[in-house]
Amino acid sequence: MGYTPMIQQYLSIKADYQDCFLFFRLGDFYEMFFEDAKRAALELEITLTSRDGGGEEKIPMCGVPFHSAESYIKALIEKGYKVAICEQVEDPKATKGVVRREVVQLITPGTVMEGNMLDDKENNYLAVVTETGKQKFAFAYTDMSTGETFVMEINRGWNAVLSELFNRPIKEVVVEQDFSPAYIEELKEKMQLTVSYAKETEQNELIAGLVTNISDSRLADTCKILYQYLFHTQKRAIDHLQKAQVIELAEYMTLDMYSQRNLEITSSLLRKEKFGSLLWVIDRTVTAMGARKLKKWLERPLLTQSLIEKRLDLVNGFYQQFFEREEIREALQSIYDLERLSGRVSFGNVNGRDLIQLKRSLAKIPFIKETLKQFDNKAIKQLVEKIDDLPDLLELLDVSIAEDPPIAITEGNLLKDGYNQELDGFRDASRNGKHWIAELEQKEKVETNIKSLKIGFNKVFGYYIEVTRPNLPMIPEGRYERKQTLTNAERFVTAELKEKEALILEAQDKSVELEYQLFLEIREKVKDYIPDLQRLAETISEIDVLQSFATVSEENNYVRPTFTNDHNIYLEENRHPVVEKVMKDDQFVPNTIELAENKHLLLITGPNMSGKSTYMRQLALTIIMAQVGCFVPAERAELSITDQIFTRIGAADDLVSGQSTFMVEMLEANHAIQHATENSLILLDEIGRGTSTYDGMALAQAIIEHIHDQIKAKTVFSTHYHELTSLEENLQGLKNIHVRAEEIDGKVVFLHQIHSGAADESYGIHVAQLAGLPDSLIKRANIILSQLEGTTEEKSEPVQKTKDDELAMEQISFFATEKPKRKEEVSPVDSEIVTSLQKINLLEM
Ligand code: ADP
Repeated sequence: MGYTPMIQQYLSIKADYQDCFLFFRLGDFYEMFFEDAKRAALELEITLTSRDGGGEEKIPMCGVPFHSAESYIKALIEKGYKVAICEQVEDPKATKGVVRREVVQLITPGTVMEGNMLDDKENNYLAVVTETGKQKFAFAYTDMSTGETFVMEINRGWNAVLSELFNRPIKEVVVEQDFSPAYIEELKEKMQLTVSYAKETEQNELIAGLVTNISDSRLADTCKILYQYLFHTQKRAIDHLQKAQVIELAEYMTLDMYSQRNLEITSSLLRKEKFGSLLWVIDRTVTAMGARKLKKWLERPLLTQSLIEKRLDLVNGFYQQFFEREEIREALQSIYDLERLSGRVSFGNVNGRDLIQLKRSLAKIPFIKETLKQFDNKAIKQLVEKIDDLPDLLELLDVSIAEDPPIAITEGNLLKDGYNQELDGFRDASRNGKHWIAELEQKEKVETNIKSLKIGFNKVFGYYIEVTRPNLPMIPEGRYERKQTLTNAERFVTAELKEKEALILEAQDKSVELEYQLFLEIREKVKDYIPDLQRLAETISEIDVLQSFATVSEENNYVRPTFTNDHNIYLEENRHPVVEKVMKDDQFVPNTIELAENKHLLLITGPNMSGKSTYMRQLALTIIMAQVGCFVPAERAELSITDQIFTRIGAADDLVSGQSTFMVEMLEANHAIQHATENSLILLDEIGRGTSTYDGMALAQAIIEHIHDQIKAKTVFSTHYHELTSLEENLQGLKNIHVRAEEIDGKVVFLHQIHSGAADESYGIHVAQLAGLPDSLIKRANIILSQLEGTTEEKSEPVQKTKDDELAMEQISFFATEKPKRKEEVSPVDSEIVTSLQKINLLEM
């Protein structure tokens, strides 16, 4: 027994969409069958049923109602699945047999357009990777909702591709059929991305036109794959796609994925959310477009001093004039998401309300221009010239779209009177008709003397005259024709009323139909403005980011950094932008950071929790802030351009890859060593911790020496290995610094102050003593320590206890080592160890 024709149709369509859920339109439902149905039932928690399909066994089936399909689609997309929407493409009434059906759109994680499936403040990218040579890749990504596309060559191997993928909200990657299975595996497992295969669709002119600006054919081909995939999934014209911008990676600071993550630039390490990240502190953008732009800037700090200075000049302008800046902020609040609106216009998804929002946005632009002119800043004044307020478009929207249009575009009330004569004619007819009816009601009331007589309307009977039961005898014989009987009343009509009704309804139908047509025409006209709107969106979002920088800079007392070419970094009283924000009452202790060409390596020692990694991170964050064009948390900031930042900091859990901490540590260190230049910054926190002491120390020393002698990168290296501090004697470029801990009233207090020189090494024993460990044990520890120090050569052996030691222990005082002065008395009772600022560290919650 074969399947029914409909199931056969299903199977033949499904064959082309193996990797998607096929939403098969059946009346008011989208149905799924077979395996799709079983999986969808699980994923969406909907009931699995079955139906007879002509085969021997019943076919598993489940479905979602057409009108609420969007939320189900969204759920599947968020889980990384793809959904093929298969509609009936002919009128069922007009056909015999099975209605023809076709897939009209493929919704995938990287090609989502629907508003409620997107995060306003975040882009949603689809990427393509192709392998172009040994360690070489071409990489392109696009945001369908805004139409912007970027393409670049990556010649630093696969890991650099992963970093590009990791550093921005990419949801889906398209690869060619013959792409390395090992890489695909990594994309899926490590990066948790949806992977799709390139589609060969016919080359169309549009695609060719989109890549004319790309001279490198491999980059152009990669873009073509991207565009082809979009056309394949969307199955329609996409007018808002912009030409791909070619990105020269060498023009931007390289922030690999470890740094992006460790430094918590756009999301916090543990909670993976914006709160607690640098973005969280510096995002005071007003518009969604601005928020997305800020993220883009943070993803690629600049390297060209003149470009950085240009941004800083603008920020300075906004910083200087609070009042005008507030005016701009206020005005930006009424600017709609012009970028995504352009996308929806091109898709034919906008309604009357969108166009009203567009109108209101455009209406604000002249005010913004006027306000910009009032800044006493050349760079800001120049922005004015970049802004086209599109008066023609504003005029069109102003004369056509009604002030408060409904969501639907098929039910009328979208357009203003006076916009179209024919429409006005229909509207007059219907209004006149209604007026006539209102007059009729009055007339009938008077003539019949029935005060409660009224004229009503319903969809089934049209207009009627209603008279309540007690008043029925008052109606003159033959005046009305009975139409409907209710419990308390009778409804009547007259020939005249029916005539008018026909006129009104016809006029209304025609007017609704005409309005719809006119609306589509207006929408087509708006389409012509898409490139203008995109340019406007670009400038507005830039202004938004710049004012945001100025706003946070003023609120948080940041200063404008200066750049020099002398390879020095000098940050006076530098702060950590995020940690200072989560601390109350100015409790953050600023520290000065100095890295000079001839002292480019800082070796930092100090107890745990004293602030070493905070110090390292704040240096990196300050550099990033400066190179995106923001002011920085310091009293004075003199910088030279940093080309790359490498980090191996803290939280060593590499949950994603499942590698051992030590392996990850070595991979990251290697990554830095392979790629850093003398203009790079390397932050290495406690390298070598993951292996045995001597192994670790030996590696740490060798790494320091290598960086010192070969790479000469600016480096901050924190360590537990006190022994390493002696390197200062031989390595000219190395300087010891430490975090001070003080003892106040028997408590160890972390002042979080960084000072020159090495930390006091027996500090740990002191803490143990404060914690109340037995005196004899503490004494013994001190002896071991002094012996360890005396016998650097034989350290691999544990220190043996001798008779002399026993004796020494008797005599030795608490702190009898040669080490710096300590208080004679401690209070073992109060064994609490506090930081001067002990507070819940929100970042680590
Ligand atoms: P370490 O790396 O030395 O173990 P951290 O840098 O992680 O220490 O700092 C530990 C905690 O001390 C931080 O979470 C923060 O609350 C606090 N802290 C660090 N630096 C400062 C500072 N400069 N001022 C105030 N508090 C600080």
